[in-house]
Formats: sequence, C-alpha cells, structure tokens
Amino acid sequence: MGTGEQKDRLLAPTAEGTILWSQGFSEPGAGTDLASLRSKAIRTDDGFVLQGQKVWNTFGHMADWCLLLMRSGDTDSRHRGLSAFAVPMTTPGIEVRPIAQISGRSDFNEVFLSDVEVPNSALIGEEGDGWKVAVKMLDFERRGLAAIGFDCMKVFRNLRRHVAEMRHTDGTELINLPHVRRRIAELSIQVRIAMLNNHRFAAMVPEGEAPGPEASVQKLHATELFKALHGTLAELTLEAETTNNVAMLMPKIFEGYFGSFGFTIGGGTAQVQRNIIAERVLNLPK
Ligand SMILES: Cc1cc2nc3c(=O)[nH]c(=O)nc-3n(C[C@H](O)[C@H](O)[C@H](O)COP(=O)(O)OP(=O)(O)OC[C@H]3O[C@@H](n4cnc5c(N)ncnc54)[C@H](O)[C@@H]3O)c2cc1C
Repeated sequence: MGTGEQKDRLLAPTAEGTILWSQGFSEPGAGTDLASLRSKAIRTDDGFVLQGQKVWNTFGHMADWCLLLMRSGDTDSRHRGLSAFAVPMTTPGIEVRPIAQISGRSDFNEVFLSDVEVPNSALIGEEGDGWKVAVKMLDFERRGLAAIGFDCMKVFRNLRRHVAEMRHTDGTELINLPHVRRRIAELSIQVRIAMLNNHRFAAMVPEGEAPGPEASVQKLHATELFKALHGTLAELTLEAETTNNVAMLMPKIFEGYFGSFGFTIGGGTAQVQRNIIAERVLNLPK
C-alpha cells in the first residue's frame, strides 16, 4: 500500500532492525471498536496536522517510528474516514508518557499528539485507506503473536522440569498424580499443534503468501495455550507443599503468569479472534 519511495526508505532498515516501530491505533475510547477512534488528521496545503491521544502504545518510548491511525473524515465516517500515517516519534508535538505497570515495568505508553505537522509523504495508501492498512497490519501482528507457539515449547519444557521436582509433604511426587499427568499430556498435545501451525505458516512464506484471517486461528490458539501453560505452572507451584527450588522461583513464575494474559488481548482480544474466525474464515453470518 505504501509508495515505491516509502518502501525504499523504510522497508530495508525495518527488516534489518535498525529502525523500530510502534503502533498507534488504540485510544482511551477505541480498542476493539477501532472504527470509533477520534484522533484527527486535518488537511493543510502541504500535508496534515495530527491531533489527539493514543494509548497502550507498546515500546513507543524506544521506537523510532509510529504507524498512526487517524480520523481524516468527519466524526461519523467510522472506518471509511480513517487514514494511516508513518511518523517519526521525534516529530515536534508528540509526547510519550509511560504507563506504570503493577510489575514495576513500563512497556506501554500514552501518546499525546498536539498539532503534529506531517508531510503528504507520511500518508500510507490513499487518504481514507486507513482501515485497509490497519486490517492488513493486524493480520501480520496476529501472525507475529502466533509465533509465541515457539515460546510455548520453552514454557512446556520448564513446566515438565519443575513438575518433576514438586512433592507433597508426605513425599508424593506430583508427576505421579493422575490429574497432573493428564494435564501435562493435554498440554503436550496442544504445544505440538502450536508448533505445527508455525511450521505450516513458515512453509507458506516462500510462496509469497501474506497472512490472512487464518492468522487469527493461530494467534488465538498459541496465546491461549501460553496462558494455560503459565497458569498450570503457577497452579502446581501452589499445590506442591514442600519447599524446594521451585518455591524459590515463585516470583518469576507468577510474573510469567500475569504477563501471559496480555498476549490474549493485544492485537485483538480472544473474543474478537473468535468473531473473525466465524465471519472471515468459516463464513458464518455476523
Ligand atoms: C499487551 C498489550 C499490548 C498492546 N499494544 C498496543 C499497541 O502497541 N498499540 C495499540 O494501538 N494498542 C495496543 N494494545 C491495545 C489493544 O489493541 C486493546 O487493548 C484491544 O484491542 C482491546 O481493546 P480494549 O482494551 O479497549 O478493550 P474493549 O474493546 O473495551 O473490550 C473489553 C472486552 O469486551 C470484549 N468485546 C468487545 N467487543 C466485542 C465484540 N464485538 N464481540 C465480543 N467481545 C467483545 C473484548 O473481547 C474484551 O473482553 C495493547 C494491549 C495489550 C494488552
């Protein structure tokens, strides 16, 4: 959707990792219902002026560029009146304010846009094409999040290692309890599915296929599995009564558990992925 000039200027450094991007879609009143966003792009003689506020902007404090989704049409134009802009984070008028998380980390930001002047060359696609840009970008983002399937394998290995050490005070090994064995077996099957999903996508890439709505299937499966793996590890850590190496890892285990929820929300929530799968993959009525 970008022009040849935009592709020449931005794609190679992006692929090389020399420039980092953040995504400026969500607003305080627009998350799932992105088409209700209100931050404005006002046309000027030689470009646009951007005004408004974004939220949950991941790693915006470290990013060089932001892909902003703005309302260039009138207030009621919904998805038809949106335009996308590639804007350097250092542009005057952009203020990034980190959001403090309960863990003490600050991975997300509020981004305030006060009369940010951008040239026409910042516009991605035509004016009013923003929805198409956003949908395509979200397909890629969901595909990226589905790669968490590989992390699932790592968490699963940790889980198996830790469970092997867990005991009740009477000496019973948790790994010998039927409900634990059943859970580990179920998770093992799901991890295998997540890996196969990833390999299937990797096999598609050489044929030049971009991700479509099927990315939602993979995102939903991998992120829910990631949460289930962390949840099982946290649950069994609490069930094990003896003090051992695992108990010492408790803070780390719970940090992983709480962190695992975000992946089921970012890039579109699990419920929204189910809607997409129903409508765009299975062609069910709305
Ligand atoms: C880890 C993380 C990183 C993020 N990074 C970014 C980022 O970099 N840039 C950015 O722009 N945004 C980012 N976000 C924001 C993210 O896109 C939104 O949180 C998400 O789209 C949900 O919007 P919301 O939080 O406003 O929740 P809401 O839209 O208010 O949803 C609340 C609940 O209602 C449900 N719901 C809403 N509508 C429907 C429906 N039609 N059908 C069924 N259920 C529905 C949702 O599933 C959810 O459970 C990030 C979020 C997280 C958690």
